[in-house]
Amino acid sequence: MVIKTADFVKSSGKWQECPEPNLPEYAFIGRSNVGKSSLINAMMNRKDLAKTSGTPGKTQLINHFLINENWYLTDLPGYGYAKVSKVQRRDFEKLINNYILNRNNLVNLFVLVDSRHSPQKIDLEFIEWCGESGVPFSIVFTKADKLKPNIAIKNVEDYKIELHKTWEDLPELYITSAEKKAGCNEILNFIQTTNEF
Ligand code: GDP
Repeated sequence: MVIKTADFVKSSGKWQECPEPNLPEYAFIGRSNVGKSSLINAMMNRKDLAKTSGTPGKTQLINHFLINENWYLTDLPGYGYAKVSKVQRRDFEKLINNYILNRNNLVNLFVLVDSRHSPQKIDLEFIEWCGESGVPFSIVFTKADKLKPNIAIKNVEDYKIELHKTWEDLPELYITSAEKKAGCNEILNFIQTTNEF
């Protein structure tokens, strides 16, 4: 897919405030620092379309971007901060869960995990929740350039082993590097083929 236009639309603090759900939508989520902004910018060929939150946990807004005037890219706030209060965490989970479960134009959720780490409890729990909730999602491994290929592959295999403990069928997996722009075309191709417009 050629990215002709990529425009920021709005930030929403509630799922009800999101733009009219009149276009197919693809959302990106992951822990803070997973490389979400970098990957979005690499895919869109922009330097700073998506902005790093800076202070983890502070930016709890849903950001919508209109791409090629025919689909929405949604940048969701990161999950799993150690340094926020229980109330903040609950509010945040409510925002994310409500968005994911109620946004009826959401075609796919891309769940980003850092390929440098072995499977992490917080990511596995979120992925399990997606599966149990029937959310259409894919797993995107980030920062693959930081590892020797065989180590990245082993970490991906370890994830598969963990997920197979619960699920027979696994979601689509992508191995990416924003730095090298690896895996970006594969994600964009998936979006193109599932985008009805
Ligand atoms: P976000 O908080 O998930 O949006 O993460 P960022 O995109 O801001 O990335 C967090 C840090 O990881 C930054 O220092 C990035 O430069 C770095 N980073 C992100 N993606 C990559 C990548 O593909 N390769 C490498 N080597 N570093 C990356």
